[in-house]
Amino acid sequence: MKQLIDRLEQEQTLPREDWIRLLEDFTPEDTAYLCERARHVRQMHYQNRIFIRGLIEFTNYCKNDCFYCGIRRSNCNTHRYRLSKATILDCCRRGYELGFRTFVLQGGEDGHFTDAVLTDIVHAIRTEFPDCAITLSIGERSRDSYQQLFDAGANRFLLRHETFDSTHYASLHPAGLTAASRQKCLWNLKEIGYQVGSGFMVGSPGQTTENLADDLLFLKKLNPQMVGIGPFIPHHDTPFAKEQAGSLELTLFLLGAIRLMLPKVLLPATTALGTIAPDGREQGVLAGANVVMPNLSPKDVRGDYLLYDNKICTGDEAAESVANLKRSMQAIGYDVVVDRGDSLNM
Ligand code: SAH
Repeated sequence: MKQLIDRLEQEQTLPREDWIRLLEDFTPEDTAYLCERARHVRQMHYQNRIFIRGLIEFTNYCKNDCFYCGIRRSNCNTHRYRLSKATILDCCRRGYELGFRTFVLQGGEDGHFTDAVLTDIVHAIRTEFPDCAITLSIGERSRDSYQQLFDAGANRFLLRHETFDSTHYASLHPAGLTAASRQKCLWNLKEIGYQVGSGFMVGSPGQTTENLADDLLFLKKLNPQMVGIGPFIPHHDTPFAKEQAGSLELTLFLLGAIRLMLPKVLLPATTALGTIAPDGREQGVLAGANVVMPNLSPKDVRGDYLLYDNKICTGDEAAESVANLKRSMQAIGYDVVVDRGDSLNM
């Protein structure tokens, strides 16, 4: 396996059958070796700098019904909320003081936020914080809508492809949502000029090693600025309540592999990773990640934006989360910096 890992580092890709072999047969020693190489590559491009993104979960209304997601339309047990423009701007102000230079607006696909409503909010953030990046994570919209939001001042867009394989995609989503249209959105976003983040859940129900190999090959082809992966974690009010969570080991291995495949990509150690293991985000950084996305949402809505069970930091103040994060990153030799943290993968 060591030869395959060396080859991945040198060639920055692997043929599909080698990806499958690597993902099926890796041992803890292989993970240790891969993570060491991943740290080396990350160090070359980004040193020991960790970028932070302030996550503002601005609505949990969603018209979609994804089988894995806790805020799916059919979940009647979720208390629904949406933040006003004034509250969103307040979150940004608090974030700016805490050193954030990127704000991520994430939410369900909420019809209230029409192009007019959302461009107005984006424009207001852009005007007040000209030195910050604005990232949207609001699901599938028309190309024209993406363009309007871009023109209003949004720079980045996170849209995980979730799984490349169309049959697997169909087993995670209701009829009407397709892998093809998700992927089309990503290409549109890139064409418009957004810095794009894609990615997938690790260990989602029915996921095979072949699916993962296809996910990696798709990411190689898309060549996004950022890749977000995290373990699938069941939510008790979804059709996948009884399914198993994705594993820490596989997630860490994939983080290291993605770092070698796309050396300059921004790679977050996600909240889901921090949820399945108490030191999950630190382990993610030690596997090659260089971004963390602390929560800037108002404390009173945190507990309502539950995509999965046991999500961390639902009770913390933003300041508290950031202070804890700085401390835990320092303890493993990394510095949380005040920086937009633009991707070097262009
Ligand atoms: N509505 C937006 C934002 C989705 S939430 C969109 O469509 O892009 C962000 C990500 O959380 C999703 O892309 C999905 O990969 C992840 N997610 C959702 N439910 C999850 C679960 N049960 N376990 C782990 N990750 C989950």
